[in-house]
This record gives sequence, structure tokens and C-alpha cells, in this order.
Amino acid sequence: MKGQQRRDELAALEAGRAAGYCWATRSPEPGLCTRPPGHDGAHVDYYNGRKGPTDIAGYSWPQ
Ligand SMILES: [Zn+2]
Repeated sequence: MKGQQRRDELAALEAGRAAGYCWATRSPEPGLCTRPPGHDGAHVDYYNGRKGPTDIAGYSWPQ
């Protein structure tokens, strides 16, 4: 069900933007920036890429 997955990704993208996230992608590696739009410094994905439950943030990458 590749089409369904693509629709889900688009819905998630719109939801992220509507929720007020920067939502920059770390392509080609996984990661979506969940800092506010127009933030300073590096993009950070607070939900994915954490190495343990006590980590505050996961992936981060430069703008
Ligand atoms: Zn960002």
C-alpha cells in the first residue's frame, strides 16, 4: 500500500506545519525538525533518533 503510505506522509507533513514546527527534513537521513519555524541554530528532531529515554532531543543537523 505504497499510495496510502505516501498520503500518510503528506498528512503528517501538513500536521507538523500546522502545529507550528520548522519541519525541515534531514534528507537523505531520517529526521524532521520539531523546533519552531525560523529558529536559530541547528535543526533538531525531538522525537526521533534519541539513544535513550532520558535523552531530551534526537537528531540534530546544521541549517
Ligand atoms: Zn529547523
